Amino acid sequence: MRVYNFCAGPSTLPEQALIKVQKELLSYNGCGMSVMELSHRGAQYDEIHHQAEAMLRQLLNVPDDYYVLFLQGGASMQFEAIPMNLLGKNNKADYILTGNWAEKSYKEAKKYGDIVAAGSSKDANYTFIPEYSFREDIAYGAICSNNTIYGTKFSQKVNCAAPLVADMSSCILSEQINVSDYSVIYAGAQKNMSCAGLTVVIVKKELVDNDYTLPFCPTMLKWKTQAEKESLYNTPPTFAIYVLNEVLKWLDAFGGIKAMEAQNKEQAAKLYNAIDNSTFYSNPVRVCDRSIMNVVFTTPNAELDAKFVKESTAKGLMFLKGHKNVGGLRASIYNAMPNEGITALIEFMQKFENENK
Ligand SMILES: *Cc1c(COP(=O)(O)O)cnc(C)c1O
Repeated sequence: MRVYNFCAGPSTLPEQALIKVQKELLSYNGCGMSVMELSHRGAQYDEIHHQAEAMLRQLLNVPDDYYVLFLQGGASMQFEAIPMNLLGKNNKADYILTGNWAEKSYKEAKKYGDIVAAGSSKDANYTFIPEYSFREDIAYGAICSNNTIYGTKFSQKVNCAAPLVADMSSCILSEQINVSDYSVIYAGAQKNMSCAGLTVVIVKKELVDNDYTLPFCPTMLKWKTQAEKESLYNTPPTFAIYVLNEVLKWLDAFGGIKAMEAQNKEQAAKLYNAIDNSTFYSNPVRVCDRSIMNVVFTTPNAELDAKFVKESTAKGLMFLKGHKNVGGLRASIYNAMPNEGITALIEFMQKFENENK
C-alpha cells in the first residue's frame, strides 16, 4: 500500500509515472534491457534525453535563447558553479537571504568575489521575504524562490536590473513563471521533477556563450562544457532523466503547469485554512509570503509536535516533522501530492486537535 509522503525531498512522485517505470524496468520499449543498462550514446537513450528536454521546454515555455542543462551534484553544486560561471566579467553579486539554502549559496559565492547581502529576514527567523536592494553594477542578483525549510516564497516579480539567478529546487513546475524574468534557473530534481541524481539548469545562452567563467573553474562545473555537448559531455544521470521524462508526460496529461498551479493553490489554501481556523495550530509566516509547496506549522508545544509526528506516521502520513532548524511540523505538498493526501492530513489534524486540546 502507498502512503502519503509529505517529505521535503526526495519526495512523492506521481504514481502513474512510477507504474510506467516499473513496467519498463526489465525491458525498456521491448529492447530487453533496463534504461539503467542503456548506453548514453545509443539511440534509445538519446531519444529519452532529447524528449525530456523538449518536454521541459514546452511545459515551462523556455525561450530558444536559453540552454536547458541536465547536470549532477545537486542544487548545492550550483551554489559554487554560479559564481564561477558568472563572475568573470565583473566580480560583484548580491544575494537575498531568505533561509538556509540562500545562506549556503551566499557563503559559497563569497569565496569568489565581492558578494553582498541585498536583504535578509534572518533576524525574524526568515518568516517573511525581506525588503531588498541590489547594487547597480553587479554581475548577477541571486534569490531562492521558495524556501523549503521556512515555508516562504517570492510572490512578486523580483526587481533586479542585473541577470537574476533563482534556486527553484522546491517550486519548479509548481506554478506558471515567465522564464525570461530570469537569466539562470536551477533546481535539484528530487522535489518536483524526478528522483535524486539530476540537477536542471536553465540558463540564458548569452551568459554561457560569452564565457564569463573564472579561470580556475573546473571543466565539469562550467556550463559551457555541457551546453556544447547537449549535457552529454560525460555520462549523464540517465535513469533520473528518464524518470523526469515520465513525470513531465504525467504533468502534460494533467493539463500542464496551469492546471497544476490551480491544484497546488487549492491544496495549500485548504491546509492554511485548517491551520488559521484553529487555535491549536499556527503558522508563523507572513500571509502574502506563504509557500504553496512547503507548509510549516506547530501545535501548542514541542511535546505535542512529537506526538503528532508519531501518530501521523502510524496513520501513513509520512515525514511531517519540521526541519531541525525550525522544529515543529512541515507538510511538503509538491505536484505529485494527490488531493486525497490533503484531505487525509486535515482530517488527522482535526482529530488530533480534539484529542489533545
Ligand atoms: C533541497 C534544496 C536544495 C539542496 O538541493 P541538493 O540537490 O540536495 O543539493 C537547495 N535549494 C533548495 C531551495 C532546496 O529546497
